[in-house]
Amino acid sequence: MSATLIDGKALAEAVRQRVAADVAGLRARGITPGLAVVLVGDDPASQVYVRNKIATCEKLGMASFHHFLPASTTEAALLALIAELNADSRVHGILVQLPLPPHIEDANVIAAIAAAKDVDGFHPSNVGALTIGHPRFVPCTPAGCMEMLSSLGLADLRGRHAVVVGRSNIVGKPMALLLLHAHATVTICHSGTADLASHTRRADVLVAAVGRPRFITADMVKPGAIVLDVGINRLPAEQGGGLAGDVDFERVRAVAGFLTPVPGGVGPMTIAMLMRNTCEAAKFSL
Ligand code: NDP
Repeated sequence: MSATLIDGKALAEAVRQRVAADVAGLRARGITPGLAVVLVGDDPASQVYVRNKIATCEKLGMASFHHFLPASTTEAALLALIAELNADSRVHGILVQLPLPPHIEDANVIAAIAAAKDVDGFHPSNVGALTIGHPRFVPCTPAGCMEMLSSLGLADLRGRHAVVVGRSNIVGKPMALLLLHAHATVTICHSGTADLASHTRRADVLVAAVGRPRFITADMVKPGAIVLDVGINRLPAEQGGGLAGDVDFERVRAVAGFLTPVPGGVGPMTIAMLMRNTCEAAKFSL
């Protein structure tokens, strides 16, 4: 058996087309959805992500406001910028690219973003809203994964077992909540999980968000499972360079029923969902 690949690029394009239509409708009513993107420091991967976000924004007819700050920026200066963006009526969404330099506390920055402009969905009040099942902004990567499941006709996961490997605030935890809201029976695994493979092998839907290249091997996957690979790992030159997911793609492909590639899987969906959230934020301002 060879898994059917889930084409994140094509699905993301479909989401972007819907967003572009929404943007056109908003602009006709005099509102141009605006996204402010803030990058602190010069991490090369973050620079690529941020540039992609800005370019996509502009392509869809949205306004983008970018702030590239030096790594030496103080937390107070960053908080002052966020206060300005909170008050700027042209800005409907605010994204602060993570990770931040170590002298800045992520939690303080996230909490300072107005919840109604928190298009990443990381603000505690948006996390709470998601937890109680009334989401306002859903974190973009898990939202993209759910969109992928919907494209397979699996918006309702009743009777299925979903296993999420990873419990970060930006991927693992919100992913598990969304799967739970879709009625899956959910297991969350992390670095303290004993006998990880015994859990992953029971997964009808397996989400890998670990940050370790090719960590999920074929023997860890139930035959026919849907495997969503969130990982984006840059390989060192001695391993050929380029990107690898958290899943051992070639071998898992022979076991899984559906599989996302890296690149071209979850990554493009993440940016498309950010655009969707920004458009929703602009609608809230109507
Ligand atoms: P984090 O480092 O924040 O979290 C990784 C998680 O994996 C932690 O919960 C950790 O457990 C768990 N983990 C680590 N080692 C093991 C192990 N041996 N067994 C089981 N669990 C383990 O990463 P993120 O969630 O931010 O990102 C995960 C991956 O997804 C990264 O590759 C990242 O680049 C990628 N990513 C991709 C995006 C996209 O758009 N496609 C967007 C965001 C992230 P513990 O909590 O116990 O430490």
